[in-house]
Amino acid sequence: KKQITRLPAWLKTPIPNNDNYKKIKKDLRGLNLHTVCEEARCPNISDCWGGSDKAAATATIMLMGDTCTRGCRFCSVKTAKAPPPLDPHEPEHTAEALKRWGLGYVVLTSVDRDDLADGGARHFAETIMKIKQKSPSTLVEALTGDYAGDTDMVRLVAQSGLDVYAHNVETVESLTPSVRDRRATFRQSLDVLRTAKLAQPGLITKTSIMLGLGEKEDELVDALRELRNVDVDVVTFGQYMRPTKRHMKVEEYVTPAVFDMWRRRALEMGFLYCASGPLVRSSYKAGEAFIENVLR
Ligand code: SF4
Ligand code: SF4
Repeated sequence: KKQITRLPAWLKTPIPNNDNYKKIKKDLRGLNLHTVCEEARCPNISDCWGGSDKAAATATIMLMGDTCTRGCRFCSVKTAKAPPPLDPHEPEHTAEALKRWGLGYVVLTSVDRDDLADGGARHFAETIMKIKQKSPSTLVEALTGDYAGDTDMVRLVAQSGLDVYAHNVETVESLTPSVRDRRATFRQSLDVLRTAKLAQPGLITKTSIMLGLGEKEDELVDALRELRNVDVDVVTFGQYMRPTKRHMKVEEYVTPAVFDMWRRRALEMGFLYCASGPLVRSSYKAGEAFIENVLR
């Protein structure tokens, strides 16, 4: 099989450089928050942080440490059976820092913590409640794991006052065992999304799928249909990028035109909105999309 070594032109991105972005980056230094945007050197940072409208500015914050109990084959986060204990002050500190930052839309995410009895759900929910107390106008999206199928934990997070519940299926069902940690299944992820939607009327649910892993067109259509069947509102598509040689290979660099086609198909199937493009990540300009499609 042909090895893909060179990046196509559409994946080469300029270094972020815009005044609003630089100002936010400076403000952030004193806040002691771990943004995925900075730590993963996300190419979208000036789009997400630097929009002209501060109410729509989006950033992703990582909770519960930097060490995951799972080992998905596409992910570069480090892994351990028993990561360090949670910081009990993190919910308060995060809420306080976000208040000072004045961000419009925050995506909270975390590693998976299968070592904790509640998977960290209480810590997650407490963080959301504190953010909403201190900054009621900040829109909050939680991007959680599957809580090993414990739907009570999904409900707990879904009822904590957030605006969007996101959980990523990552890929089509047939590829799930070779892409995600063996404890994750496509069915279990559908269950998480279904539970969240039913737990809280009006809650927007969201998922993300990586393209370029070898998924077939009909498998992707099936996945989208299953997601609509459990009332998922939002889907995003992005290109899988191999973090290191130890991670799974890219099977294909999907062209921007094909990403556009998938966005149109998702909308035809009834998704409320869809971000789709080679560099799109699940949190890509999420604030702007929410304001345009849900609030207006
Ligand atoms: Fe941050 Fe997500 Fe935007 Fe990247 S796509 S800059 S991680 S909010
Ligand atoms: Fe990475 Fe999430 Fe998988 Fe952990 S559960 S290895 S953080 S993708």
